[in-house]
Parts: sequence; C-alpha cells; structure tokens
Amino acid sequence: GADTLPGAKRLYLPLRTGRTAVGVVGLDNDKQGPLLTPEQQRLLDALADQAAVAIERIQLVADVDRARLAAEADRLRTALLTSISHDLKTPLAAIMGAAGTLREYAAALPEKDRAELLSTVVDESERLNRFIANLLDMTKIESGAMEPNYAFHYVGDIVGSALDRARKITGEHRIDTDIPTDLPMLRLDPVLFEQALFNLLDNAAKYAPPDSTIRLQGWVDNGSVILQVMDEGPGIPPDDLERIFDTFYRVRKRDQVRAGTGLGLSISRGFVEAMGGMISAANRTDRPGAIFTIRMPVPEEIPNLAVAKTDDAA
Ligand code: ADP
Repeated sequence: GADTLPGAKRLYLPLRTGRTAVGVVGLDNDKQGPLLTPEQQRLLDALADQAAVAIERIQLVADVDRARLAAEADRLRTALLTSISHDLKTPLAAIMGAAGTLREYAAALPEKDRAELLSTVVDESERLNRFIANLLDMTKIESGAMEPNYAFHYVGDIVGSALDRARKITGEHRIDTDIPTDLPMLRLDPVLFEQALFNLLDNAAKYAPPDSTIRLQGWVDNGSVILQVMDEGPGIPPDDLERIFDTFYRVRKRDQVRAGTGLGLSISRGFVEAMGGMISAANRTDRPGAIFTIRMPVPEEIPNLAVAKTDDAA
C-alpha cells in the first residue's frame, strides 16, 4: 500500500524515539487498494510516536533496575570467574598433564613415577570435586533449599569424622583436640556440621604454616556447646572479621594464589545458622592466629538413646 512500492500488500512503520527504534507496527488489509487515507496515515504516525515514547519510558525504568542488579551480578560473576578460572583450571591442567604423560610414556616410566602421576590425578580430582561440591552447597543455601536432617549427636564424634576426612590436608600440621566426652548431645545434621567444621580445618591448614598446631576445643557455656578451631597462622585483619563470611570474599591478594574460592566460610556460616547455631571469627590474643567459634544451643530435651555413643568419640 506504500507509494514507493505499489505492489507491497502491507505497511510497516518504525516506532522511533530520539534515541532508537523500539519496535515496528505492521498493517495489513484484506481489501484491495491503498491501506490508509493520508489522514489515517498522519494519525497512525502520531500514534506510533506516542507509543514509542511510552515504550521507551517503561524501558528506561526497567533499565535502571536492571543496571543495579547487573552491577551486583557482575561483581559476583567476576569473583566467580576469577575463582573458577583458578579452581577449575589448576587441577584440570594437572590432571590433563599427568594423564597425558601416563598415556604417552607409561611403559618407559619407572613404577615410582607412574604412581606419582596417578596420585596427582586422584588428588587433583578430589580437589575439583570439593570445589564443585562447595558451589552446589552455596546454591542450595542461597536458594533457601537447605533442609537439615536432624538427629542427636555428640559433637566429639563429628569432630572425629571431620578430622578423619581432613587428614590429608592437615597432614603437615599437629592436631590438638580437647573435646570432653561428657559434652551434652546436640540436635544437628551431622553431614552439614561436619562440612562446616571441615571448611574451618581446611582454612587452618591452608593459612597457617606447616608444622604449626591446629587446636580444637569444646566446652559448655550458658546453655550452648562451644566449639573452637584455633590456628597459628597470620590471623585475620580486625576489619575483615565479619566480611570473611561473605561469598567470594578473600582477605589478602596472595590468598588468591592458594586453592580456594572464598566460599568455605560462607558455607560454614550458612550451615551452622541453618541448624540454629552461630559462627564467628576472632584473633588469638596469646599469639598470632585465627579462632573460629561455633556456638550450638543445647536442646532442652534430649531423648534417651537418641544415638548410641560410639567408642571412637574424640
Ligand atoms: P577460601 O579459603 O576458599 O578463600 P573462605 O571463605 O574459607 O574461602 O575464607 C575466606 C577468606 O578468609 C580467605 O580467603 C582468607 O583470606 C581468610 N581466612 C579464612 N580462614 C583463615 C584463617 N584460618 N587464617 C587466616 N585467614 C583466613
């Protein structure tokens, strides 16, 4: 119906604003002949202009909202990417290197070297696995999908299993535990609690120098069981004591060099709080070093024989 293209059956008008085009209006007609009279055409032009301005206004408001969210998401994404590029790439490169060497030269290599390459593959795969488990835990906490699986347990038992699991990473440290066996039972999810504790042990092993002592101590205070993990590392700058529990927050530039994600402590806090407890950080006063304190409420009623006490309680 346009003058320039008499054969065209439809008319399309851009919805234009000063900035940009926000859309197109298309007109069709089942009758023969021109689509619009000149007056209708002018009316349509005016309508299209008004519509374009209205649409642009709505878009601008949405843009402002989106920009705010995007800035937030961007910060997270950058942190995540930095962490992922390090935490995925480093172990993957080691696994690929070791596996590739084994494939090419296994026959020519002495048994000792082959075993070493294989343990690199296993160790680095475990590291990847821990990292991915952390990411999954984090998404669960953030989406509010955490549902603790409660049972009654002695905290010493869980300390024992967390220490077992952390044995490889704490191998270069001395472990000193002082958890009385007569502490009251706690109502908690043993898997979540062990993970919260494991992350603290992992940090103590990572940030405190080899041959230093990691101390775990427990006692009852004011209706709660207190569990502390102390190390002999550099400690935490006072201004960062709260922030280290934030997702992806890492204190020192050089901490980025060590395998880590800035997720461990936010997961520990997420888990402990999901179980009704509290976790906080402080610095030692007797010497340099960090102290992490978990406080769990002692349940008012502990059912008899809730969980049989195991022999290997720490
Ligand atoms: P990650 O250890 O993977 O970086 P975390 O959430 O476990 O992440 O810890 C956040 C940051 O808190 C660490 O990067 C480090 O800067 C600091 N931090 C945690 N634990 C300790 C510790 N025991 N001693 C000194 N600094 C610590």
